[in-house]
Amino acid sequence: MKVSQCVICEGDKVNSREIPHKILGLCQLNVCEDCGHQSFVPKFKKMKDNQFSSEYVIVNQHNEDLQKQFINRKYFIDYSRLMLLQHFFFIDDGMNVLELGPDYPGLFQQFKMTGKKLNFYSIESNHESRRLLQEYGVNSIGSSFQLSETIENSDNLKSYKTNDYQKYFDIIICCNTLYYFETPINSLEHMLSMLVEGGVILIDILNDKIISESYYEDNTMREIFTKKSLEIAVKKSGGDLLFINTNCVENPGQEFENMKKNIGSKIVFELIRKITNRLGFSLVPQMDVIKYFSQVSQLKYGHPLGQYIRAVVTKSH
Ligand SMILES: [Zn+2]
Repeated sequence: MKVSQCVICEGDKVNSREIPHKILGLCQLNVCEDCGHQSFVPKFKKMKDNQFSSEYVIVNQHNEDLQKQFINRKYFIDYSRLMLLQHFFFIDDGMNVLELGPDYPGLFQQFKMTGKKLNFYSIESNHESRRLLQEYGVNSIGSSFQLSETIENSDNLKSYKTNDYQKYFDIIICCNTLYYFETPINSLEHMLSMLVEGGVILIDILNDKIISESYYEDNTMREIFTKKSLEIAVKKSGGDLLFINTNCVENPGQEFENMKKNIGSKIVFELIRKITNRLGFSLVPQMDVIKYFSQVSQLKYGHPLGQYIRAVVTKSH
């Protein structure tokens, strides 16, 4: 097998094996001994990010299992997102928020609950999701990232370029998407260039520790990060990590109670109060529901801890 270099840390202690990939076809899977990063390198066809995302949409539409899991996923992710809002208290009227591959409704729902007048933007490859997002008041600026490589689809998207949005966004959300980019470090650089001073990128990726061998039979990611390889990628792209964890929430209901107790900030309470008022009921019973779904989700993944690795990134100075 040919000698490869790790695409993240550039180490040369890389173990390779051949494995089929659901979208890329027969691949060489490179596993780095140093940072643990795993990369799928297609043996026959080269695929650009824009082609990859349209293939992904097609595969996903026929993935019945994924659709069945959606309800559990939704609740689990909602809880995690609530926790993450702790890092976004600087949110204020007039800010620009971009989500990459949000599907529908992405994180916009949670941002709307803050009650701030925010401007929403999305880059989404699924046509139907784009339509729903537009109806939801989200500006669609492309179908794949980076924008300069976007091939626009039938819904008359104006052809924007990444350069049109230099230093434009206060928040870029990159949830469950970083591992689909062909060159993740390069994509991170582009995201950073689109941030205003003091802006942040929210990244979340599936924790590699919960990926079992059977996962590879149906894999759709092209890069599988570890906490370490994500840290290296962020640094190499010119970013600073403000926060990283593996989101080990064993008991979300209790965790939520602790969060309310431990974080003395008035802003936190203000935010929780706003969310509560919006929903018209107390969040606490809601947390019990979420706790239940979270447990279902944990059972599904067969791992009690750390479904996701989450990071908040800003431009390095
Ligand atoms: Zn490495």
